[in-house]
Parts: sequence; C-alpha cells; structure tokens
Amino acid sequence: MKFTDLGLAEPLLRAVHEHGYDTPTPIQAQAIPMVLTGGDLLAGAQTGTGKTAGFVLPMLQRLSLSTPAKDSRGRSPIRCLILTPTRELAAQVEESVRIYGKHMRFSSMVIFGGVGMQPQIDKLRRGVDILVATPGRLLDHAGQRTLDLSHVEILVLDEADRMLDMGFLPDVKKVLALLPPKKQSLLFSATFSDEIKNLADRLLNNPGLIEVARRNQTAELIEQKVHPVSREAKKDVLVHLIKKNDWDQVLVFTRMKHGANRLAEHLEKAGISAMAIHGNKSQTARTKALSEFKHGDLEVLVATDIAARGIDIDQLPHVVNYELPNVPEDYVHRIGRTGRAGTPGEAISLVCVDEEGFLRDIERLIKRSIPREIVPGFEPDTSERAEPIVLGRMVIGEGAGRFGRGGGHRNGNNGGGHGGRGRSDAHPAPSHGQRPAAGPRAGASRGGRPPAGRSGSPKR
Ligand code: AMP
Repeated sequence: MKFTDLGLAEPLLRAVHEHGYDTPTPIQAQAIPMVLTGGDLLAGAQTGTGKTAGFVLPMLQRLSLSTPAKDSRGRSPIRCLILTPTRELAAQVEESVRIYGKHMRFSSMVIFGGVGMQPQIDKLRRGVDILVATPGRLLDHAGQRTLDLSHVEILVLDEADRMLDMGFLPDVKKVLALLPPKKQSLLFSATFSDEIKNLADRLLNNPGLIEVARRNQTAELIEQKVHPVSREAKKDVLVHLIKKNDWDQVLVFTRMKHGANRLAEHLEKAGISAMAIHGNKSQTARTKALSEFKHGDLEVLVATDIAARGIDIDQLPHVVNYELPNVPEDYVHRIGRTGRAGTPGEAISLVCVDEEGFLRDIERLIKRSIPREIVPGFEPDTSERAEPIVLGRMVIGEGAGRFGRGGGHRNGNNGGGHGGRGRSDAHPAPSHGQRPAAGPRAGASRGGRPPAGRSGSPKR
C-alpha cells in the first residue's frame, strides 16, 4: 500500500513525499479513504499511530473540493475546527496542517490559553480556514464574539478521551452547540469509556469505525529494560548511560517538577545539555525547550507526565523513566513516545527498591515482565530498605508503612480521597486520575479529584 493508492490529490501527495513518507500507517490506510467519502468517523487510535495525517490529509482534500461561503468582507469563514486537549498537541497538529497543506492555499491557526488573546484576535480577523484549538480558549473567543463557528464543515475531536479525562466535557459540549448541525465529524480516541460512547452517539451520524492496535499491545517495537539501581545512584547511572551509549536525544521522566529541575541541573553540570519542562514553566519556555529538543540542539528533555502530554517527536530513540510513575497507565503513555510509526525505540527504567510495587503494577498492566539488567559498576545496594515516596503531601510506595500504598498523608489531610495515583506536578491542567483505565487498580482512580489547593476547573 502506497500513499498514491489512497485517492489523494497531487499537492497532498507531493507534500507527503517531501516530508519523507511513502507508506501509509494502518490508521492512515483506513481513515483517509473513509474521510474522503465525506462520512463521519469514529477511530480508536493513540498518538504515535500516524493518526494526525490520517485526518489532516483527507480533510485538506475535502476543503479543496468545496467552495466556501464568504462573509461580508469577502473573507472565508472557519471551515474546519480541530479540538485537542493540550496546547502542545494543538501546536503539533497545526504544524501538520501546514506541512501537508504546503502546496495548497489554506490558512491555519492554533489557539490555546496561557498566551495573549489580542494576537489571536488580530489573526482571526484576517480570516482563517482551519483552526486548531483547545476548548477553553476557543470558548473565551466565542464568548467575546471574536470568532464565528457557524460555517464549520469539518470537526475533528482529537484525543477525545484525554479531553474528557481533563474535565473538558462541558466545554466540548458548549463548542458543539456553536457548530452547524450539518458537518462532517471525526472523533479520535485511544480508549472508549461510556462517556466517549455517549459523545460519539450524540455527535456522529452513522460513522465509519476504525480501530488500530493500542500502544500497550504493540509494544514489541519498543525494547523495554529495567536497571535496578540504588536510590542515590540514579543520577550517576543516567549520566553514565547517556555518555557510554552516546545518546543524543533522550526524553527523561520524573514524577515531580522539582525532581525534573534538579536532574536537568545535574546533567548540565555533567556536560550534557538538558532542560526541564513542567507545568510551572511558561508556555514560551516549554515551546523553546521542545523545539530545541526536536531539532537536536538539546540532548535531554526532562519532563513530568502531564507536561509531556502531546509531545510528538519523530522517531524518538530513547525514553528513560528516571522514576517510575505511580499511575501504571502512565508507563504505557511514557514509553509510547518511542518506537513510533514503525521505528524501534528503547525504554529504560531506573528502578530503586522504593519503586518495586510500581514496577509490579506496571508489569501486571502490560501483561509481561520487563527484563532486569544491572549496569556494571552500579550494582544496587542489596541492604537498602524501601522508603516512602513523598508526592507533594502524599506518602506512597513500598515504604509507606502503615498507611499502605496510596493512602497516607504526612499531614493527615487526605486530599479529597485522591489516593496514591495522584500527581504533584502542579500543571495548569487538572489531574487526569479519572482516565478510563484497563489496569487492575483502575477502580482506585475513579473519582480522582484534583488535589486540594488546585483549581477544580481546567485552565484555559
Ligand atoms: P501521530 O500519531 O499523528 O502523532 O504520528 C506519529 C508519528 O508518526 C509522527 O511523528 C509522524 O510524523 C509520524 N508519521 C506519520 N505518518 C507516517 C508515515 N506514513 N510514515 C512514517 N512516519 C509517519
């Protein structure tokens, strides 16, 4: 199967070819012909499957075949709306629109919160065909009547499950109410909770259905390894591995933002260029770090789980879990950053005695055991005993003593029943502890509210 077999127009094929792709991924091979027919689509696909081109390419073609209505000033209205859960994903999708649409004459724009409204208003005024947006900021604009969605021909909900996990359902519903009833709607989601099914029932009209393998079933392309290490040796093991293996593009995960900062500083001191991204950093700092990392100017990007959402880098070769996540599903998301679209990748986890329980949960979820490999010269100290892991105000992990896993709080405040799966990365977005999880401890996460002190409503 080649891109040329899918019924795409020449300017799109040329752009795809120039971008270096010739074989469509499974989701592209199925979604492109289906979307070209003009029908609705419900697609089960995660980031990393090539889903973005799966909807952007046929969407561009459909737009090129119809003539838009013009407003009184002769500008074309917003014809396509793509909703995404995060700013990073919104930016990446819009970049794809520009890449694949480079030989066409559509204008596109991305809208998200955390940056000034006025430049967005100015740009909207000049006329935009394709708008990629996060729901909150989009509604801010709609409220101020700085945009008009009444002529949208194609709607895409990208990563709909994450959108709902992040508490955006009310906002999504408000956006849907602003759209014309007659349109083509495409819904992409990695998982299908009842909420997603309800949304699909309400939005989609006799949709085509596509499901490509979930990442945790296709992990064969990702070589996973655990390095058992002593607690205090992790920093040095990481420096050693990066230097010894000449890794030049490594995404490293920590559980907390302070840990991310400290680790980035340690790497810098060891002569490895590194930056941390997390919710406390400004959007500009995050975009800059991501762009330097993507272009190979930065060897290591240290990220917390929430900050890393939506990061999409072509063929990222190495992901390191400097600390294992306390939410096992996050492991799957983390390692899904490598081994993408058919290229092999390596996912390394540095695990100390405190994290044995997390590792067991992860292995239960992915239904396989991850090979252990001791790094010569860094043999773990077998006399080390598990200590509690402190996550913000929570105490979790093997050494959490009489509190057990996930229940204990140093200060006696139980944080709204958040349990051990909470996060302490004070990212603007709320906790996504409500992810519809397939894992054995899924029940524990139900009703996971944002920890005390954090806003209960999604930041725009
Ligand atoms: P996505 O799932 O859309 O986030 O895409 C995942 C990654 O696969 C992105 O880095 C794309 O650039 C890459 N990709 C998309 N389509 C193809 C293709 N047909 N061949 C190779 N890589 C692709």
